[in-house]
Amino acid sequence: MSLNEDLYKEIIIEYSQNPKHYGDLPEANIHEEGVNRSCGDEVQLHLLIKDGKIIHAKYTGQGCSICMASTEMMSSYIENQSLEQAKSLIDLFKSMIMSKEEVSMSSPYEDLEALKGVKKFPIRVKCATLSWNTLEQAIKEYTRNKNSPTTG
Ligand code: ZN
Repeated sequence: MSLNEDLYKEIIIEYSQNPKHYGDLPEANIHEEGVNRSCGDEVQLHLLIKDGKIIHAKYTGQGCSICMASTEMMSSYIENQSLEQAKSLIDLFKSMIMSKEEVSMSSPYEDLEALKGVKKFPIRVKCATLSWNTLEQAIKEYTRNKNSPTTG
């Protein structure tokens, strides 16, 4: 095993075992759930979005260490980001995991590189991308609701 693989494993374990963003967020105004049946991963995202900015991001649910590490990293990075910034991070992350080309994550996102190894394992790709797809849905939902305010 290479030095990089060892380091990446450590990063994944570190994030999945020290979840700083795990838990409910009572003030959240967007809740979105994602399920990955092939592994049994389940993630509920709880976001407080205000004026096009993600103020707080928390999550509940359960899953394998890849899924939980990915969700924890994502939550820590998107806090205080605008929806546009979050969307480009989603695109960047997904292209790192899914495109044939070599895509690297630069500072401050370099820890996400630890998940790059799943590229070789299509089943694990779903674990790593679950929370990102869920975030994408959440942003769509928020944008849709904002553009068509409900009356009454
Ligand atoms: Zn999984």
